Amino acid sequence: MLPNILDVASEHKLTFQPRSLGKKQTLAKCPFCREDDQPRKRKKYYLSLNTQEQIFKCWYCGESGGVFRFMALLEGVSENEVIDRYRKKSRSTYKLHPAEKLTSSQCRMMGLDKKPDWMGIRKFDYPSYKKLRELVWKAWNQFLQNEKRFAYQLLVISIAGRTYGKAVEAIGKREKEIGAPFLKEVLDIYSLSERPRQINRLEALALHIGDPLKYPYSPMEKE
Ligand SMILES: [Zn+2]
Repeated sequence: MLPNILDVASEHKLTFQPRSLGKKQTLAKCPFCREDDQPRKRKKYYLSLNTQEQIFKCWYCGESGGVFRFMALLEGVSENEVIDRYRKKSRSTYKLHPAEKLTSSQCRMMGLDKKPDWMGIRKFDYPSYKKLRELVWKAWNQFLQNEKRFAYQLLVISIAGRTYGKAVEAIGKREKEIGAPFLKEVLDIYSLSERPRQINRLEALALHIGDPLKYPYSPMEKE
């Protein structure tokens, strides 16, 4: 993604025409020819910034180009230098894998003793880092899957025992603890008219555990 031309202009303290702010074409005083700096041209703003395409043009002196040229001219350096610097910066702000975004407490909840030192491992051994990322992500999803299954069982038992409100509350609380939403998903599964077979089996088992006399359960029957 390109740098935002409006941000660049404000960093360099360009004077904007207030009316044009927030529009596709934002007007400003031209810092290159300074023609509109003259007192008699107080109301003129010759520089036009296209905030969608990140390009600029001065209607007076004709200076124009893309946002990198804009930055280069404002800083008095070459365009290549600006582009080079921008590339390096984008590389250093690389996107985190979802596994790396897991918090320390989430890591502990799923059974790790602590959050992996991602940066350290990455520097030390890149292939292992990539492998570990996948492993942790898989383990996390497995953990969430178990939590969902448990929440579902709780819900089913609570409906049989008429403690539905309490169960929803408990699931909501657990959801917050874990930091991943699944209550809605669990409720959605429950309200499906045709639930997956393993869900029906799970429900039969949950009911059976909740009240074995009322709900006899034979796994064979449900296969
Ligand atoms: Zn100009």
